[in-house]
Amino acid sequence: MPVETDALAATPAADPQPSAERPLLVASHVSRHFEGVRAVEDVSIDVLPGRITGLIGPNGAGKSTFLAVLAGTLPASSGTIILDGDDVTALPAFRRARRGLVRTFQLPSEFAQLTVIENLLAAAPTNRGDSLRGALLGKRYWRADENRLVEQARDLLDRFRMSAKESDYASSLSGGQKRLVEIMRALMLQPRLLLLDEPMSGVHPSIVGEIADYCESLRDDGLTILMVEHELHMIERMCNPVIVMAQGSVIGQGTMTALRQQREIVDAYLVG
Ligand code: ADP
Ligand code: MG
Repeated sequence: MPVETDALAATPAADPQPSAERPLLVASHVSRHFEGVRAVEDVSIDVLPGRITGLIGPNGAGKSTFLAVLAGTLPASSGTIILDGDDVTALPAFRRARRGLVRTFQLPSEFAQLTVIENLLAAAPTNRGDSLRGALLGKRYWRADENRLVEQARDLLDRFRMSAKESDYASSLSGGQKRLVEIMRALMLQPRLLLLDEPMSGVHPSIVGEIADYCESLRDDGLTILMVEHELHMIERMCNPVIVMAQGSVIGQGTMTALRQQREIVDAYLVG
């Protein structure tokens, strides 16, 4: 036993970084070019666990493209993406999702004809292959072995105070409720790192604070979030650190308070 005790005792000393601050995701020199457009150019960032990291910048800065490259829905032109120590750069999006790297998607138009809970269940991974196809096959698809997923979906609906809407069609929801469904759909995949692209856009101002509350609560439960958002007062409240992109590159990072004091950041952000 003394050997094992020594080995355990030696581990923290051998690792100079406290594990709580070891990045969950490391993007190194990531670029994504479209014909003639350097949408993302040599971006390197760390995403620390248990935090909400903000990603801000003017329209066209490359924020959405960068999130898509991280999630694997767009291939990188170059660079590497390391998730929890593993290189996932070559993995397709669904394999990254299985490892816990998940982004939200706007509800596809055909999902408007599904109820809220059907939308959540359609997002869940199944053993039957393509869950979208399953969803479109209709209600017969939900069998006894989906009970666990139904329970998971209902827990989410409860958490997001949407239980009363369970059987409503997605098409009947408000903009804010649709955003919540998008987030819940992503959470059905049980992510470790959730990528959110403007979760508050098109949302009634009275709901914006509610979405912030949900994000903070998820973070407090251990979820790591990387969020693109234009609502700077919400970014200031929720996010630390905040990364600023302009013209495809990272031009600064730090707390929102510190960034506000940097003239070149303010200029780039406001001028675009
Ligand atoms: P942001 O989300 O910061 O507003 P985007 O990532 O959407 O920025 O866009 C960054 C740049 O890449 C823009 O110039 C945009 O026109 C261009 N872009 C984005 N997607 C495509 C695409 N599929 N084909 C060509 N250019 C694109
Ligand atoms: Mg965008």
